[in-house]
Amino acid sequence: MLPLETVREFVLDRCPARPPVSVPVADALGLVTASEIISSEAIPQFANTAMDGFAVRSVDVVDAPCELRVVETIAAGHAPQVAVGPGEASRIMTGAIIPPGADAVVMVERTSIVPDGSGDSAAETVRVEASVPPGNHVRPVGDDLHAGAHVFGSGTELTAGHLGVLCSLGMTEVKVFPRLRVGVLSTGDELVDDGSPLRPGQIRDSNRRTLLALAHRADVVPVDLGLAPDDPDRIEAAIATGIDTCDAMVTSGGVSMGDFDYVKAVLDRVGDMRWMQVAIKPAKPLAFGTVGDVPVFGLPGNPVSSMVSFELFARPGLRSMMGHADPVRPTVTATAAEDLPRRADGKTHFMRVLATPTDGGVEVRSAGGQGSHMLWAMAKANALAVVPDGDGVRAGGPVDVLLLD
Ligand code: AMP
Ligand code: MG
Repeated sequence: MLPLETVREFVLDRCPARPPVSVPVADALGLVTASEIISSEAIPQFANTAMDGFAVRSVDVVDAPCELRVVETIAAGHAPQVAVGPGEASRIMTGAIIPPGADAVVMVERTSIVPDGSGDSAAETVRVEASVPPGNHVRPVGDDLHAGAHVFGSGTELTAGHLGVLCSLGMTEVKVFPRLRVGVLSTGDELVDDGSPLRPGQIRDSNRRTLLALAHRADVVPVDLGLAPDDPDRIEAAIATGIDTCDAMVTSGGVSMGDFDYVKAVLDRVGDMRWMQVAIKPAKPLAFGTVGDVPVFGLPGNPVSSMVSFELFARPGLRSMMGHADPVRPTVTATAAEDLPRRADGKTHFMRVLATPTDGGVEVRSAGGQGSHMLWAMAKANALAVVPDGDGVRAGGPVDVLLLD
């Protein structure tokens, strides 16, 4: 058996980042920048008000309460037409340009309109209740970003906020490592996926939906390659389709020591594969290699094993190909809220657990059955507890956990 870290390094070495491309900002969520982004303009580009209220000359209101003549109403998106002179104010809405002459804004809540009985709103007088310092509620030019600023470095994973900044800067395209297309293939004579009643020995294909979903969450484009029975020709045809249409492939089933585990035989014939026994439980068997230049992850068939194997090997490999410098999920140290028992077997166990935040930390308890076929407990788990070889972790003891999505 090989240590997890050795196998993961082997995988990551063979999953280098793909050449960068330009993509529309609209398609860039979750992708990694391939060059530094410099701001071409200041944000905001003009001094504007942070509040609805009145733009004033701060010197005019030092002795507030006082009254000012309202000379204009300035809405967001519209340029002021007149300057604010001594004894004057302009009614102004959040985000609108500060008019010439004014240097501060009094929020509307600190003002009242003085009735003059004329009903002419163009001739209003406003009463200002409190004095304000210069710059009050004014957002100056470049307050968020100045022109020429280093906005985001190369290697930044683009989140919702990053995309907003790119849009603020007027960018429509961004240079990134491309999103991978990742094919997902299920294999096994026992599998059914059309909703038909099960015949003896048949089960429904759950892995493909799960792995496609994990792929989606890893920010790749999942490609459904369907279901292949335990038939070398059908498996080879499905793999050929995957290699032609995808940047990477994930298969489940057929990589163990069974008589009909043909995925192994086929991949050995068409690709350069490594068959590994990893010192972990679940997910001990792993096939990894390349067909042409397409990395292929041959994951075990048991539903929990395939998910854990995806998390530990495929997800980091795929994210490395998409330019993530740190593709492996970080672990945090939690406290076991109950005993997490196991037997010594030379393997690291990844136990399905529920992690909950506590004052100053995280505590975990078992999510249920720990068999590699027990998908229900895996579905309820939000973390994997990394339980080293030995007899487990006692309640109250520390345990590393890998937080899942
Ligand atoms: P294998 O790795 O092909 O020996 O399969 C190991 C176990 O996982 C067997 O019990 C299979 O029936 C089960 N299995 C394989 N593929 C799937 C799948 N796509 N969905 C659900 N269970 C599966
Ligand atoms: Mg099988």
